[in-house]
Amino acid sequence: MSCPICGKDTDPRYRPFCSRRCADIDLGRWLKGGYVLPGDAAEDGADPLAEDLPSGQDMSGQDRGPSGGPSGRLN
Ligand SMILES: [Zn+2]
Repeated sequence: MSCPICGKDTDPRYRPFCSRRCADIDLGRWLKGGYVLPGDAAEDGADPLAEDLPSGQDMSGQDRGPSGGPSGRLN
């Protein structure tokens, strides 16, 4: 079995991942996908004025995920 993140051999301690790093990456993706529901964030501000603003809020800046790719040389 290989790590679903980078494809290396799995470490039993971090199964099914090869390292804590990859486990964290997967967890981050999972949380992102499960947490951020489309439309939910919009309900946050029921202020009619908010709809006038362009969707350039600061929160949208946190889109930089762990996009390392399968370049497993950083380990
Ligand atoms: Zn890995």
